[in-house]
Amino acid sequence: MTTATRPTPRDCVLAIEAYVPGKSAAPGARKVYKLSSNETPLGPSPKAIAAFGSIANHLELYPDGAATKLREAIGHRYGLDPARIVCGNGSDDLLHLLAAAYVGPGDEGVFTTHGFLVYRIAILASGGTPIEAPETDYTANVDAILARVTSRTKIVYLANPNNPTGTYVPFSEVKRLHAALPPTTLLVLDAAYGEYVRRNDYSAGIELVSTSDNVVMTRTFSKIYGLAALRVGWAYAPDHVCDALHRIRGPFNLNSAAIEAGVAALEDTAHLEAAAAHNEKWVPWVSERIAALGYKVTPSVGNFILIHFPREPGRSAVDADRFLSERGLVVRNVGAYGLPDALRMTIGTEEANRLVVEALADFAKRAAGK
Ligand SMILES: *Cc1c(COP(=O)(O)O)cnc(C)c1O
Repeated sequence: MTTATRPTPRDCVLAIEAYVPGKSAAPGARKVYKLSSNETPLGPSPKAIAAFGSIANHLELYPDGAATKLREAIGHRYGLDPARIVCGNGSDDLLHLLAAAYVGPGDEGVFTTHGFLVYRIAILASGGTPIEAPETDYTANVDAILARVTSRTKIVYLANPNNPTGTYVPFSEVKRLHAALPPTTLLVLDAAYGEYVRRNDYSAGIELVSTSDNVVMTRTFSKIYGLAALRVGWAYAPDHVCDALHRIRGPFNLNSAAIEAGVAALEDTAHLEAAAAHNEKWVPWVSERIAALGYKVTPSVGNFILIHFPREPGRSAVDADRFLSERGLVVRNVGAYGLPDALRMTIGTEEANRLVVEALADFAKRAAGK
């Protein structure tokens, strides 16, 4: 006989530490620069904003549950079969649906130590066991991942590039990982920052999805396209995986404004290029200047950088976070990612980038007692 007097969540649900998003506020600061969630400083395309507005007069209508227009626009843009694209309420939605479809009690899901937090949550929520593979120099290590794959491994999540480290693995390594996985293990390539990467040896994974039965690539409109508020993500997957996702996804998981704005954002290639160019200019600028202050910066191919601090009172990441916050510079504390001595800073506007470098210079001086 049970003694419970109220509904009880499954144990696996209570094992989850809820995701805590980056802060948005800096109490007391005159102006706030939000550099905590890898949002684009350029905002969305004006065409996407106009498309969003066009929905206001039809709020009584359900959206197209198949998001046909958006899938076709994505297919056109990336040269993919729209039938093999599944859209999600942000790519988080898809990362969860993949675990829900393929992972159950007794199964395992693998991701890397400083990998995106949603993977652990999605695996646990499905009743599976999360398995962490250690990284090398804050970078996914294919051999370490493979060493943790067993007959119970149903899913492997790889953020490429990874958040919060900003590192990536070359496509040759992704292919080596895939080649050594059992055909029954699903490899999920999360390319949320794929559009930012400027490396000849990088690929978001389209070719691998097209040529195999167990690879899925996920993408998002939240980062370079600047539509985080609308929640638009998509997956490119084998048809049998699309079939599974369609069975369990919310029937209207994309709202009409998200569909319209997503289509318009895809059409504005000039805006996309401007965002990529801004990033290409400022990542090295900020990284070099912060490194010159004596802080280790992990080389990043994304739109954010990981800055490392000494674990000393007055000089620590916690102290730096407080110091920056007092100046309205809101960055991401990444303790939950196993990085208590680092802060993640999103590349912002020129003004924000300069202010962070100035602030860290002052912080370093103060910490040195000068
Ligand atoms: C931001 C991010 C996502 C995307 O999230 P959305 O749900 O699409 O907003 C996915 N993966 C990683 C690694 C991210 O950093």
